[in-house]
Amino acid sequence: MTIIRPDWLLVAADQAPRRGWSIRVDGGVVDTTGPHVELAARYPDDEIVDAAGHVVLPGFVDAHTHLYGVLAHGIPPPSGGGPTDFWSFLADYWWPLVEDALDIDMVVAATDHGCGEMLRSGITTFYDIVEAPGALPGVLDAQREVVERHGLRGLLSVEATERAGPEVARLALDENTRHLRASRDHELIGGLMCWHTTFTCSATYIREAAERARELGASMHCHLNEGEHEGRWAAEHLGCSTLEFYDRLGVAGPELLASQCVQLTPADRTVLAERGVRVSHMPLANCEVGGGIAPVPELVDDGVTVGLGTDGYIQDFFEVLRGAFLVHKARRRDPAVMDARLVLSLATEGGARALGLERVGRLEPGWAADLQVVDLDLPTPVDEHNLTEQLVVWRNRRHVRDVMVAGRWRVRGGEVIGTDLTASRQRVRAAARRLWERP
Ligand SMILES: [Zn+2]
Repeated sequence: MTIIRPDWLLVAADQAPRRGWSIRVDGGVVDTTGPHVELAARYPDDEIVDAAGHVVLPGFVDAHTHLYGVLAHGIPPPSGGGPTDFWSFLADYWWPLVEDALDIDMVVAATDHGCGEMLRSGITTFYDIVEAPGALPGVLDAQREVVERHGLRGLLSVEATERAGPEVARLALDENTRHLRASRDHELIGGLMCWHTTFTCSATYIREAAERARELGASMHCHLNEGEHEGRWAAEHLGCSTLEFYDRLGVAGPELLASQCVQLTPADRTVLAERGVRVSHMPLANCEVGGGIAPVPELVDDGVTVGLGTDGYIQDFFEVLRGAFLVHKARRRDPAVMDARLVLSLATEGGARALGLERVGRLEPGWAADLQVVDLDLPTPVDEHNLTEQLVVWRNRRHVRDVMVAGRWRVRGGEVIGTDLTASRQRVRAAARRLWERP
């Protein structure tokens, strides 16, 4: 049994930080929390981990990433020039130059590198979505092996789509089905039944994916209205809004995680709120593709479950928190929206709930011992009223000292245990070079 002794303990984003409190971990879960002296007296034989000058808080949940995205960082632009809108981002750049050129070795190199980067950034749980027609079948088996080695809590899926033809479409659904079966009783690995969008998947195909999810007892996932394109497409081809279409198909419910949700009609908002659809928000990647800014404070007010994600873009999760903290203040011209506590709650428990995980995202007894130890050597005093804001606005991943997932240390003293980050960087760089050189 281990007792971690920080200056401050933040059990959950909606709780007041507790000065001079320790946390006791037993197996994979939190056993108890309480004042230092009390726990030390009750458990004199426990190992004590000194975290003076630090805060212990729940690990981050990256509710939406594409780990292979790292391979596209700095990729030469398409010969006809860079993307001009969201559709051209996909059709002229992301599909032909990245996803259609990926193979299993590239995805494995990116996953290995991404796991190390996530742990260093305080992320203990993530959901990865891979679209790589050339890596089917087998990509999820290969990824699962890498994630198991790193000891992260990881949900994996293939973004099933019909855009690359019927054979790939079938392989993708089968890949998700096989992975969901294989990871059913796994302690840390899971998955979602995932398809891409309404403009790359037919109603019949989405129905089949949903049917398989139901049989497997799995959650479902899709990208939704990342820019203006899909909403417009749905209005023209389906005669309704995107979420109204999903509602008619019978898939808009609490089992569905709809990622992005940037451009929403009032009808979309109604379906999200009334059907209990979950949402993940990627503030920085939405800026990158020029998609707009998702109405996240409004969704939270509607009672929608929202998590935060990197989208495989900027991997330091503190930067994503900062994005969520800032962009909505600018959009709404209101410094009071998206306060630090709300942002931290989306980055922890909100993400876990968006992914359908239970007892993850808070450090209460019986909840997963997924936590991070963050340095508090700040230029101004830390106090109960400002600790969360100090974390969200003025910390980044170099301040993460230790990370524990399911009761096991994965980062100690800033070093990712059992990982040679230099070798992993070399492998991912070689994979990127190979991707960029593909015809
Ligand atoms: Zn995405």
